[in-house]
Amino acid sequence: MAKRDYYDILGVERNVDPDEIKKAYRQLALKFHPDRNPGDKDAEERFKEAAEAYEVLHDAEKRRLYDQYGHDGLRNTGFSGFGGFEDIFASFGDLFEEFFGGMGGRRRTSGPSRGQDLRYDLEIDFLEAATGKDVELNIPREENCADCHGTGSSSGQRRLCNKCGGRGQVFQSRGIFRMATTCPGCQGRGQIVTDPCRACQGSGRTQRNRTLAVHIPKGVDTGSRLKLRGEGEAGWHGGPPGDLYVVVHLKAHELFQREGDHVVCRIPVSMVDAALGGEMDIPTLTGSKKLKIPKGCQTGEILRFREAGFPNLNGYGHGDQIMAIQVMTPTNLTSRQEELLREFASIGGDPKEKKSWTQRAAELVREALG
Ligand SMILES: [Zn+2]
Ligand SMILES: [Zn+2]
Repeated sequence: MAKRDYYDILGVERNVDPDEIKKAYRQLALKFHPDRNPGDKDAEERFKEAAEAYEVLHDAEKRRLYDQYGHDGLRNTGFSGFGGFEDIFASFGDLFEEFFGGMGGRRRTSGPSRGQDLRYDLEIDFLEAATGKDVELNIPREENCADCHGTGSSSGQRRLCNKCGGRGQVFQSRGIFRMATTCPGCQGRGQIVTDPCRACQGSGRTQRNRTLAVHIPKGVDTGSRLKLRGEGEAGWHGGPPGDLYVVVHLKAHELFQREGDHVVCRIPVSMVDAALGGEMDIPTLTGSKKLKIPKGCQTGEILRFREAGFPNLNGYGHGDQIMAIQVMTPTNLTSRQEELLREFASIGGDPKEKKSWTQRAAELVREALG
């Protein structure tokens, strides 16, 4: 099935500001929220679709990619929509708290729920993006306490919470919703620990620094997002851990720029080489390469090294190295050099085009003056 346009999904114009996008998403999330449409498959789809549209359009970089290249533009960001409600609630939990005052924030209810996703911003060198790289990342994250296996209790003894009767939730009416909120007596566990674990003071969780070996694949670009499944924070009450997203940023390079998988640069060529042709050593992503300067080449002419650009992240070949020629006009001439250039001009060395161009310009001026 073809994917719908994200702006259509949210029902907004393409030029709206982020506030409008949030407002539009809030309305749809409210309308199609699963608590309000239990068992309604169509509402479920609309709810997921709206979340995906919002996920893309509220992020300036993803929105730019989407505006420019459509759905294809997001392929390299590692973003592929949401698997299900839990994914959405895990990603937007805080936003939903803001929208509905706690309705969507299912994280701290008594049932098992997924841990938080984490984001790590990684800066890598321009050239390293061409070859890929193995890195070690130091990730501070919340894990289940090893002493009590996340239970918070040193002996496993607990008693039922009498505030919620063990349900972990207390109910409140708010507008049309009868909302389950986390029981303040037991923080949603339904049970009270009678002998808190010393290592974690009964929380069941500890903050740890983990070192993770991560392979950055060749072809990554600024904005590429690598998903490390299960490397986020520990889940709650036996739920699965969240994921870790490594977001790549490329450092600028003094010669090269990147356009998709292409490498773009400017090649200064001497006036003599440009006129007579020549050969130059040109740096590329993988080392130096000989570039043949064609005879009579002009400023702005584009030369290419086919497939000398970045490898495509998804394995579709390589980009090119695209080189824009810039002919350098000599300065600080010696009197001998000046003399030679004058002689060059006097024997008709100056390009003919110049003469016809001046003539044509003079004609246009005459015409303009009537
Ligand atoms: Zn513990
Ligand atoms: Zn309770």
